[in-house]
Amino acid sequence: MKQDRTCLECGGGMAGRSDKRYCSDQCRYLVNNKAKQQNQGERRVQRVNAALRRNRSILRQLSPQGKTTIPRQYLELAGFDFRYLTRLYRTQRGNTYHLCYDYGYMLLPEEKVLIVNWQPYMDGAGDGAADVARRGCFRLPPVAVAKATHHFECVR
Ligand SMILES: [Zn+2]
Repeated sequence: MKQDRTCLECGGGMAGRSDKRYCSDQCRYLVNNKAKQQNQGERRVQRVNAALRRNRSILRQLSPQGKTTIPRQYLELAGFDFRYLTRLYRTQRGNTYHLCYDYGYMLLPEEKVLIVNWQPYMDGAGDGAADVARRGCFRLPPVAVAKATHHFECVR
């Protein structure tokens, strides 16, 4: 009993066993390989998303509101992955905030980091210094005073 069937990969005609889906080893290999690469890509996306989510959550826990200065080691101990961030914001003074969604940090001397909340001007092109000058320093709400040591100075 011969059937008119076509290969799912190349559309070519096939003879033989009715459970065959591909006309050749090559077509089967191509399909498997494509699926594998797609899965690897998806897994990579998931891993990076998870790392970003964890980073944001760590920043949030260590600095629920306002600015907080802590030893960089606190982030490392919490499992923060410094490779992953959502964007950089560079101030006119040349400081760089590493943002994970709505939280970010800036590396400070002596192995410390300043954790900040995202501010609307950070979505600008990085020319936020005038805006900062107008607004003054970041506000330091009383809640933030609960943790570690704090940075009360302006970073401008
Ligand atoms: Zn084929």
